[in-house]
Amino acid sequence: MREILHIQGGQCGNQIGSKFWEVICDEHGIDPTGRYNAGNAGASDLQLERINVYFNEATAGRFVPRAVLMDLEPGTMDSIRSGPSGQIFRPDNFVFGQSGAGNNWAKGHYTEGAELIDSVLAVVRKEAEYCDCMQGFQVCHSLGGGTGSGMGTLLISKIREEYPDRMMLTFSVFPSPKVSDTVVEPYNATLSVHQLVENADECMVLDNEALYDICFRTLKLTNPTFGDLNHLISATMSGVTCCLRFPGQLNSDLRKLAVNLIPFPRLHFFMVGFAPLTSRGSQQYSSLTVPELTQQMWDAKNMMCAADPRHGRYLTASAMFRGKMSTKEVDEQMINVQNKNSSYFVEWIPNNVKSSVCDIPPTGLKMASTFIGNSTSIQEMFRRVSEQFTAMYRRKAFLHWYTGEGMDEMEFTEAESNMNDLVAEYQQYQDATAEVEEDFDDGVDEHFEGQ
Ligand code: GDP
Repeated sequence: MREILHIQGGQCGNQIGSKFWEVICDEHGIDPTGRYNAGNAGASDLQLERINVYFNEATAGRFVPRAVLMDLEPGTMDSIRSGPSGQIFRPDNFVFGQSGAGNNWAKGHYTEGAELIDSVLAVVRKEAEYCDCMQGFQVCHSLGGGTGSGMGTLLISKIREEYPDRMMLTFSVFPSPKVSDTVVEPYNATLSVHQLVENADECMVLDNEALYDICFRTLKLTNPTFGDLNHLISATMSGVTCCLRFPGQLNSDLRKLAVNLIPFPRLHFFMVGFAPLTSRGSQQYSSLTVPELTQQMWDAKNMMCAADPRHGRYLTASAMFRGKMSTKEVDEQMINVQNKNSSYFVEWIPNNVKSSVCDIPPTGLKMASTFIGNSTSIQEMFRRVSEQFTAMYRRKAFLHWYTGEGMDEMEFTEAESNMNDLVAEYQQYQDATAEVEEDFDDGVDEHFEGQ
């Protein structure tokens, strides 16, 4: 058994996290009381084969999400508890405060969040002890607010300290002015990226800017709500975790996923894509073919991150197709894409694209595919946040909210330069060719100097 412990924090984290559980419960035939419904639409042994990755088995055959829910205010978690799937979670695993974080990363990371963190860790520890052989953690949060962002990254660093050899995957929602609540989001996001570079192993980037654009341009929703954005997120999260939840060969655990996708440890921020894109409640009437799915999946318009892969190069990529289809056709189509677009893949990592097929499609679709890419073009998104950060930081605007909680300006400067370094590293590997210019000089000089 290789269990994953799921944690969701803050408003956004709790909202996308509970959607994730709704979707995967449905895919595994688990009803809102936690019981397996053997007569469910997609009934199959495969639904239960790896159920222990995400669920604990309680008495009387009940399945309980291995999930910890945290927030610095009770509102969002209250609505989850009283919502249609609220009863499925373990009541002891709701940990919340009353103060709120007021969209202030410092409150989440250093003051209010730091006060609540031990109660969260106690629940995490209890769940971890209950595991047979836990593979790692997944955290759902936004980076633009105070709780998911500040307290979320505090929790990630505490977990890293206590479980250094377990994997840490995050689903991180990046802020966009198109869907923004507050002006300080670039500060909160930059401070968080600084943490995620060091303490997370793999980050699935969910960029509100791209999610908004997909809703507006592709799905023709004139006024997208969080519900619409979260529909795309939950479809993507289901796709990304499919290889962990169902039996298969490729990327079957968090470490294998990391090994395939991360050539350099700091470059672990992934672009994810999904096809076909559908809006909430809409039915797909015509099903897609494998070539259509493949074409859409690689399309910049289907990426959940506002960066254009054609402006960079893929270091690695992985595709998961779902539904009944021919593996041979999938392989052919994937090879075809790579051959036609070879300049968009670094030539110094041969065979850097992998694909797999899972028989079970997502609910409501006959076929779908999910794409995870490690693309150097993701620097476009980091640049966007960095520009917004710098514009304010240059004038030290809003800093008093952070220094008032005891933060040092130095941490802002360090976070800013860490993110700029990350951008530079992506650029460096984007420009790199197969020829390595080896630097023999030093050794040789020393050798001769000694004579
Ligand atoms: P927290 O409760 O302090 O962690 O703050 P929030 O989670 O509300 O963080 C604010 C950021 O999250 C902003 O960038 C919002 O646009 C974004 N956000 C809040 N709720 C949602 C949601 O349900 N879905 C999405 N996609 N973004 C959200």
